[in-house]
Formats: sequence, structure tokens, C-alpha cells
Amino acid sequence: MTRVAVIGAGPSGLAQLRAFQSAAQKGADIPEVVCFEKQADWGGLWNYTWRTGLDEYGEPVHGSMYRYLWSNGPKECLEFADYSFEEHFGKPIGSYPPRAVLWDYIKGRVEKADVRKWVRFSTPVRMVRFDEESKTFTVTAHDRVNDVMYDEIFDYVVVASGHFSTPNVPYFEGVKTFGGRVLHAHDFTMRWNSRTRTC
Ligand SMILES: Cc1cc2nc3c(=O)[nH]c(=O)nc-3n(C[C@H](O)[C@H](O)[C@H](O)COP(=O)(O)OP(=O)(O)OC[C@H]3O[C@@H](n4cnc5c(N)ncnc54)[C@H](O)[C@@H]3O)c2cc1C
Repeated sequence: MTRVAVIGAGPSGLAQLRAFQSAAQKGADIPEVVCFEKQADWGGLWNYTWRTGLDEYGEPVHGSMYRYLWSNGPKECLEFADYSFEEHFGKPIGSYPPRAVLWDYIKGRVEKADVRKWVRFSTPVRMVRFDEESKTFTVTAHDRVNDVMYDEIFDYVVVASGHFSTPNVPYFEGVKTFGGRVLHAHDFTMRWNSRTRTC
């Protein structure tokens, strides 16, 4: 049987799972799909918790999200074609929802599709190697719960591990002697904010 690995259960990875499930629903013969997600839950960077930064296994949770983010795009431009906000919430809601509301909506669609069984949580992918001869990919994954590393062979790999997570810290004249705290927006969360006063 053809096997597909999806790395990351954020909105992009979940869209893959949903597409396979939708094809199966229409009678297509779909491959075996395994999604590897390093966090304990899905939703990608919308899954902001107090663990964002570093999780209980010492694994970096590198999303640049912060707790009280509100969507900067109107929800009408973000809506899934096959799952409306109104269907999810059962009533109309405002155009610029907060992060937690968007996370709830993103989860609702995949919960309806019943694809959680395809996801291996707390399992970061460490390496992917392609074999020219067999034309297959060897995925090395780390099961953090049991602290076991293992290899599995796949015919296709979808890399949906996200972006916007590696901060770029340019040099500014005078930064070395600046008396205040220098903080990249990536490291801004409400935990920082609650202790930090800005002027
Ligand atoms: C601060 C901020 C605000 C934003 N605001 C908006 C907004 O208002 N509206 C909007 O539409 N978009 C916004 N975005 C864009 C956002 O990137 C997308 O909405 C969306 O989350 C991208 O989905 P993704 O699945 O590609 O990546 P992500 O959401 O980053 O998901 C990637 C997933 O892959 C997992 N992963 C990473 N590496 C591995 C690995 N090696 N092994 C296993 N799993 C791994 C991660 O844990 C994560 O769950 C914002 C982004 C940021 C940073």
C-alpha cells in the first residue's frame, strides 16, 4: 500500500489530512497517511499554550504566536470552502476573531473529518532521507512520550512544518550598549508582557 507522511499538524498539514479524508468519502482509494506532530495537540501555531517555547520533553515549540493575538485578516478571507464559521459556531461572529476562536474553528473542521487517528502527537521528525534506488523516503521520528527513535519508509512526504518561526535578528547601531531589554517579536508572549512594561 502507498504510504504518505505529513510532517506537521498545523493548518497546512491538516488541510492534507482533510483532503485525503474527503477523497476517501467520495470513494477514492487513498494511501495510508501518517502525520507526525511534535506538539501534543494539533492546530500548529494557533495551538498556543504555556508550553509554547519549550515543552515538557525539552522539545523546542518554536511558533511565533502569542496568547492574545487577534486575526489580522478578516475571517471571510480565511474561511474553509467546505466548513463555514457559521456552521462551526452556529451563529454569525465578528470579522477579526481572536486566536483561541480561530484555533477552535480550525480544530472543528478536522474533528468533523475524524482524522485525529492519523496523527502521531509528541513525535518530531528528526530527518528525512531519500533513496534514489527505491525512490522511497526514510523518515526518522522521535516518540517523545516513550523516548524512542524509529525509522519508517514512505512513498511521499508532505513537509508542512510551518514557517515564520526562525527569528531574524539584524544588527542595529548602538544595540550593544542599549540599556533596555532587546526582545525579538518571536519571543513576545503574554508571559513576557505581564512582567514587562514598555513606554
Ligand atoms: C504571530 C503570527 C500571527 C499570524 N496571524 C495570522 C492571521 O491573523 N491570519 C492568518 O491567516 N495567518 C496568520 N499567521 C500565519 C500562520 O503562519 C498561518 O495562519 C498558519 O498557521 C500556517 O500554517 P502551517 O501549517 O503552514 O504552519 P504552523 O501553523 O506553523 O504549523 C506547523 C506545525 O508543524 C509542527 N512541526 C514543525 N516541525 C516539526 C517536525 N520536525 N516534526 C513534527 N512536527 C513539526 C509544528 O509543531 C506545528 O504544529 C500568523 C503567523 C504568526 C507567526
